[in-house]
Amino acid sequence: MHLFKMRIKTQGSIKKTQLLCAFVLEDSNKITGLPKFDTKTSSSINQSLKDMRGKLGKLTIIPISGKKQAQRILLAGIGKKENLTNDTVRFVSGKIAQKARELQLKEFSIITPPTFVCDSILSVSQIIEGSKMSLYKFEKFKTEKTNKSPDLTIIVSKSDKISKAVKVAEAVAEGAIFTKSIANLPPNECTPTTLANFAKDISKKNKMKCIIISQPELKKKGFGGITAVGKGSKNEPKLIVMEHNHGSKTQKPIVLVGKAVTFDTGGISLKPGQGMDEMKFDKCGGCTVLGIMKSVSELKLPINVVGIIPSVENMPGGEAYRPGDIIKMYNGKTAEILNTDAEGRLILADALAYGEKQYTPKAIIDFATLTGACIIALGNNVAAIVSNNEQLTKKITNSSKTTTEEIWELPLTQDYMDMIKSDVADIKNVGIGRAAGTITAAAFLKSAIKDTPWVHVDIAGVAWTQGAATKEKPYNPKGATGFGVRLILDYLQKL
Ligand SMILES: [Zn+2]
Repeated sequence: MHLFKMRIKTQGSIKKTQLLCAFVLEDSNKITGLPKFDTKTSSSINQSLKDMRGKLGKLTIIPISGKKQAQRILLAGIGKKENLTNDTVRFVSGKIAQKARELQLKEFSIITPPTFVCDSILSVSQIIEGSKMSLYKFEKFKTEKTNKSPDLTIIVSKSDKISKAVKVAEAVAEGAIFTKSIANLPPNECTPTTLANFAKDISKKNKMKCIIISQPELKKKGFGGITAVGKGSKNEPKLIVMEHNHGSKTQKPIVLVGKAVTFDTGGISLKPGQGMDEMKFDKCGGCTVLGIMKSVSELKLPINVVGIIPSVENMPGGEAYRPGDIIKMYNGKTAEILNTDAEGRLILADALAYGEKQYTPKAIIDFATLTGACIIALGNNVAAIVSNNEQLTKKITNSSKTTTEEIWELPLTQDYMDMIKSDVADIKNVGIGRAAGTITAAAFLKSAIKDTPWVHVDIAGVAWTQGAATKEKPYNPKGATGFGVRLILDYLQKL
């Protein structure tokens, strides 16, 4: 997988640059960090500042004549001081980077905002994430590719903490970009085997243990959910496992599980044709786990993390599983199939039970484009979470505030667990009608594990941009968003 290169460095003072960018607050008459210019230049900068008024996301370019440090000044509005969020600098940096590319520049410089906007370490992280992620384009299948990305210099006083922040932010952004690049692949170019090969590649590069469990072994070991769903496709299912062991031997790992249905037709319970192409994104949860594992191993985080990705293609066919079937899951429970389009919970339940049994983890977090009901409940900018543990939920929520990948918790009480009881098997793979669809799906997952702290993240609404309902962000161009990569990397770094 080719990732575009963008060189990033920091500098304590401004040297010659094609584009020097400064953040300005709304209705402010001050610009922090610009060098001293002659009277004529200063007055034209001030006039531009008055005209643009620092509105959020507004960019103004002022050409500078003569031999100056900068060929152009760019003023970037960050809006009102009271409306600043943890996303403001990231969002605006993305707009700046796209502008620099549009101007076909070789490089550009950004002055970190004053510390009341955000502290310099956070600023540096947000500038890097925003710029890098905004310059990514999915153009693997385009004959003509975009010009090279411009390099970035961040103007900030140097320190060890800043150098570390740069390294971390680059790895985090690259993890998210990696996730987007794979998730955007079309279904004919990305099967469970392709995903397994990506896992092998990153594991080899970064010295992780990688185990791929294939069809005969899946069947033999009793992965009834994965086997049943995978039966309809000639692209055989895989269970992908990556181990990053950088903590002590006695330290329990964090297990990350991601749903990777490389294409979801719905199976025998076939989906309607309209928008079915988007079902290539049903692998986004697995892609998120791949991106996280890539960054975790590159950063050599001093912890133990296991990534588990059940991957299948859900197709109708002579061999496909049917509504009415009763299957035996990995944990020994039987499940009645009432809708073959509710396949995600079947493969996830197997993977969750395997993760708990094999690793006795400290916590399990899973990502899945699981239910359309999640979009009805929360729309396309907030992911639903369901959990069995308050402390773990609190930690994930805190990380969500830092990364601004928004989440909202839904309840999971015994009443919901009762909704998946079956007349003929232990449980069934749908709830009661359409009621609380996101929660009854989560109830199915909960039934697979015992008492390990667990958070389930339903990313059906947020994993890829879905028309006007998705808020436009420069760092989330059309296609997969990489939702969850930054969130979990933040959580893992704080452990
Ligand atoms: Zn489905």
